[in-house]
Amino acid sequence: MKKNFTTEAINIKNYPLNDNDSIVIMFSKSKGLIRAVAKGAKRPKSKLGARIQMFIANKLMLFEGKNLDTIQEAQSLNTFSKIRSDLDKLSYSMYVAEIINNFCSNNCSQDENNEEIYNLIFNTYNKISNSKTKEEILLSILKFQIKLMDILGWGIDFKMCSICQKEIETNALFSFNLGSFVCIKCANSDISCIKIHDKIREFMQTLLISDFNLKTKYDELVNITVLEKCFNFMKKYIDNISHKKTKIFEVLEYVSR
Ligand SMILES: [Zn+2]
Repeated sequence: MKKNFTTEAINIKNYPLNDNDSIVIMFSKSKGLIRAVAKGAKRPKSKLGARIQMFIANKLMLFEGKNLDTIQEAQSLNTFSKIRSDLDKLSYSMYVAEIINNFCSNNCSQDENNEEIYNLIFNTYNKISNSKTKEEILLSILKFQIKLMDILGWGIDFKMCSICQKEIETNALFSFNLGSFVCIKCANSDISCIKIHDKIREFMQTLLISDFNLKTKYDELVNITVLEKCFNFMKKYIDNISHKKTKIFEVLEYVSR
């Protein structure tokens, strides 16, 4: 039987359905990724139109449908308004939305991880919105990448060699084919690996185990070069797993040419 339900959700994509209505894809706390019709959202002065914009978190009442739900009521919880005034903030937020859409598009309605993922997206957008420097933005996005993979069961073990199962003390190598770290003894010419500095490995491990909003000893120390390297490392790892290359940065590069 179809029924109304309430949930909190963050908008990650929207597109027109017809002249008056839009479809919005959201990540919800209770059901994961959901698609809903926002009736009248395309009309000028529509309140709903403002609520279904990208990245906004709403408290919603929806009418459950077979393929599409319908938004009955929406009340914004956080608009993360400062994301929209900065191109870096905007592009990294688009990246978050793209990853969530890639990974969660298979219905995960029974998934007990939904609340954790919702909170991770919320925290990430909140931090990005309030960031004062590019370093702060990158630190938040890196936490998002590392923690999301961990929640979804694709977490990287930064400490162990995946072949001999022993803790790696120093000179760890990472294989994108294996999707894991290997020690120098197990690495051979059959596995193409890249070197990851011990300090970088330690840094990413710290982000994995620390609470999202907690400051770590690294927050003040890391520079933009290290952060960009770590971001690109995680981006490549995630693209490999999802078999989908995230496009947002390529699009931006093209536009800015
Ligand atoms: Zn080993």
